[in-house]
Amino acid sequence: MFTIRRLWPFNKGGAASAEVSAKAADAALPLQGKDIAALEAILRSAQPGTRIQLDDIFVGRRITPTEHEWYYGAKCRWCHRTGAALHDPNEGQARLSFSGRGEIHFHCHYCNGLLKVTPAQIVWFQFDG
Ligand SMILES: [Zn+2]
Repeated sequence: MFTIRRLWPFNKGGAASAEVSAKAADAALPLQGKDIAALEAILRSAQPGTRIQLDDIFVGRRITPTEHEWYYGAKCRWCHRTGAALHDPNEGQARLSFSGRGEIHFHCHYCNGLLKVTPAQIVWFQFDG
């Protein structure tokens, strides 16, 4: 098996083209909302315990969370795990809650399913791998 892989000439090229098509799929997503970086900036400047009023739609890319770091995310409706939407800019030091009519749209970091969550569905958690 190992020998076949080593000799297979298209292995590397195949992986590269899969990456390109994933990027193309990202680009094809309609841009309807603010960048989630704007939300991160709001969180960074908020006082601990503040309730954040979200009335806009924030769109985030799929992220790769780091073990033991803090994130805001939501339970995935597809794989039922807790997907990370954005890194907590306060590193777990300031718990914030959310209300309003806005939404966060992001791709589950486990299964890549698209999630559209309301402020009430946002959870704050430490990623444990
Ligand atoms: Zn998922």
